[in-house]
Amino acid sequence: MSFYTILKMQQETDYRIDIQHLTELIDARGAKSVGLQLPEGLLRRARSISKEIQNRCDIPVIISGRGCYGACDIDTALSEMVDLLFHFGHSGEDRENIVFVEVRSKVNICPVVQSAIAYLEGDRIALVTTIQHVEMIEEAKKILETAGKEVLIRCGSGDGLRYEGQVLGCNASAVDPRSDEVLFIGTGLFHPKGIASLIEKKVVAADPYTKNIELIDPEPLIRRRWVFLEKALDAHHFGVILSPKIGQYKQNVADEILKSARDHDIEAHLILLDEIREDALINLGMDAYVNTACCRIVDDMRKVILLNPDEFARLLRMRDRMG
Ligand code: SF4
Repeated sequence: MSFYTILKMQQETDYRIDIQHLTELIDARGAKSVGLQLPEGLLRRARSISKEIQNRCDIPVIISGRGCYGACDIDTALSEMVDLLFHFGHSGEDRENIVFVEVRSKVNICPVVQSAIAYLEGDRIALVTTIQHVEMIEEAKKILETAGKEVLIRCGSGDGLRYEGQVLGCNASAVDPRSDEVLFIGTGLFHPKGIASLIEKKVVAADPYTKNIELIDPEPLIRRRWVFLEKALDAHHFGVILSPKIGQYKQNVADEILKSARDHDIEAHLILLDEIREDALINLGMDAYVNTACCRIVDDMRKVILLNPDEFARLLRMRDRMG
């Protein structure tokens, strides 16, 4: 099924967005201008939200056209241009003029959970989902229990996690380690692949929109990372990437990496980069890079060696052992 078909289905099935609540916030704060930032899957709702706010509040609205991947990825330039920025689709702590607007899907997850049972081999299942579906997790649990499964649901820890069973692409702490395998309910493979590589368990990914079920085996994902690590053994110079995104800016981590590189006589350079794309890294011409921003960016690389900080630490230990 094509991306556009899925998008169309999502538009038809739609999400609940409480415009009344937004207009009350605008009134309460006396905002004279508003910015809207939405993730890709919701971007097509921007037009109707903008229209509603303009009609009801008679104030200018600016829609952020840049990509947005998580609560870590706020459009700070837009937040400086408007009195109030609504960031949709992720949970987070409101700050200054930035308000997080959680969005719930109206799609029924029960049919796909029922279908997923045939793919679950273990008895103990960790049940996880994204914020759009958290309200339906108890219904999913009942279906699995009726099928004789023990269902483990818990609240993860970390920025942006608020609900039982909620995961992020970079945080699978909601997965109970006692589970045999994981059932993920949600769209796409970004989250289930993240879970599989972070906790090294099989993930059954059940998409409530397409009704597709995918099995994610952690082994090839882990092997792929080792291939890059081995390639990095021969690298002479490293770029250490620092992101200016407010939720991904980690100066301390970058400083530590630079220090360890110095201690190991490795040439390293600090690079400030907003959108970390492979072509930009190729252009910079370093042998390899260490990424201090979103840990999932390494998955997008094909030709460039990009390591996360824990992988760089492992690389140094490997080099030490080799002498
Ligand atoms: S750091 Fe990456 S995976 Fe984690 S919330 Fe941000 S964009 Fe998503």
